[in-house]
Amino acid sequence: MTAGSLVDELLSSMGGFHIDEPPSAASELEKRQDDMANLLATFKEHLQERSAHSIAPTLGTVGRINEESRTRRNAGYPINFEFDFGPVIEFLNMRLNNAGDPFMECNYGIHSKKFEIAVLDWFARLWELPKDQYWGYVTSGGTEGNMHGLLVGRELFPEGIIYTSCDSHYSIFKAAKMYRVQCIKIDTLFSGTTMKGAVDDLDEIVMILENCGFANRFYIHCDSALVGLMMPFIKQAPKLTFKKPIGSICISGHKFIGCPIPCGVLITRLMDINHVMSTNIEYISSNDTTIEGSRNGHAPIFLWYALKRIGYNGLGKMVENCLKNAQYLALRLREMGVSVFLNALSITVVFERPKDETFVRKWQLACQGKIAHVVVMPNVSLERINMFLEEFTKSRIALLQDKCVAGDVGQENCLCSLHLDRKKEAV
Ligand SMILES: *Cc1c(COP(=O)(O)O)cnc(C)c1O
Repeated sequence: MTAGSLVDELLSSMGGFHIDEPPSAASELEKRQDDMANLLATFKEHLQERSAHSIAPTLGTVGRINEESRTRRNAGYPINFEFDFGPVIEFLNMRLNNAGDPFMECNYGIHSKKFEIAVLDWFARLWELPKDQYWGYVTSGGTEGNMHGLLVGRELFPEGIIYTSCDSHYSIFKAAKMYRVQCIKIDTLFSGTTMKGAVDDLDEIVMILENCGFANRFYIHCDSALVGLMMPFIKQAPKLTFKKPIGSICISGHKFIGCPIPCGVLITRLMDINHVMSTNIEYISSNDTTIEGSRNGHAPIFLWYALKRIGYNGLGKMVENCLKNAQYLALRLREMGVSVFLNALSITVVFERPKDETFVRKWQLACQGKIAHVVVMPNVSLERINMFLEEFTKSRIALLQDKCVAGDVGQENCLCSLHLDRKKEAV
């Protein structure tokens, strides 16, 4: 029995998901309303249960892993549950549309572009691009940010080739395919892989490009879905800044910030946008600079609210806390005799895949081959980590139980793998 399965069962037995015609009789209509309310309440409970046991990485953090694990999880969830978005929820009832370029007033007057620009300003400041030199927009997610970054790169260098790490997120390869640009995978040349939570070394990349005779003939798009928000707050981390010769940076808004609506932010150089992207569209009286036409007007309000409440300082503390919690998790796993890997500046704890599949599903662990990983996001509190460790220990013991005779002969005499491991460690 996995957590949530009761609610799962209830939901599937309710059959009420099917969209049938509303009945005409008033009495039947009332019953139908009740059924709908019931279904929604059960579904809410299901999501709450899922959230409580989520130690999963942000949806999409590591492409291949999530492709695999997505099919196993039925709930897509925002990740940072710490934050209460209550005060801005009522905007969801309004039909906002931030169509077209955020910096242009468009025909449709019900939008939140003022919030959007405030959010963009905040990110431009974070990544050190002056206000009069940046352009950007709130995207539908990291994927759209990558699509935009690579499109600008393609337009600037129509004959160019995309070089990317073989461990890049799948959206990079998707964009290359859509744009029909040759894409060359580089074998984890730089400081590691997404899987291991590592970050490419920008300085090294620029140096290599220049040494190869590509000075001023390249465009670097930084896919920083998760780390783009963290790096500025980690002293030892390689610096992510527009003072370096990069073209664009994008992040996901539903990962570290935990926006309840999937979204993202893209910041790029105004100069490049003016050069390659803007075509005036009379129909909406805006510039066609974004990938999407109609754009989400709610996400900017949610992002604005979160950033305004947390601030650079609060975010710095969140990052610090996550790093500490990740180290704690790694340490405790190691103590349990589990093989662990944790990159120094990372919150991605990689460890041997638990053998108990029920446990894996319950905690929505993303696995790839023999390893699993946990991204210690702000919602993964110390309390939750301890709960996770406790259950993990139990599940390991349960699996070993058939060989373990510690109860009969004492721990020191038991040679089951659990106690053998402990002995080895003690030596
Ligand atoms: C999550 C992620 C993406 C995709 O972002 P979405 O918001 O899911 O579209 C791209 N790249 C990296 C490195 C990511 O972690």
